[in-house]
Amino acid sequence: MGMSCIYCAKSVINQNPMTIPGKGVAHLRCFQTDQALKRTFQSLDIAKLNDAELADLKEMVLAEENARNNDNDDIELF
Ligand SMILES: [Zn+2]
Repeated sequence: MGMSCIYCAKSVINQNPMTIPGKGVAHLRCFQTDQALKRTFQSLDIAKLNDAELADLKEMVLAEENARNNDNDDIELF
């Protein structure tokens, strides 16, 4: 593994490199730009999911939202 930014491929030496777990090193600015542009959530790159996986994720999100909304309703009722 070299000391090149995984996003722009330029050297990160003396430029406050940050470590991306499992990927390499990157400039902080490149990382932030990548996070802003990519459809990632925490370490999950949802653009890499296949259709079935994306559907599963959507179901999980909707189920979680429903669960939380129900919790909120319970709290308001009492
Ligand atoms: Zn960079």
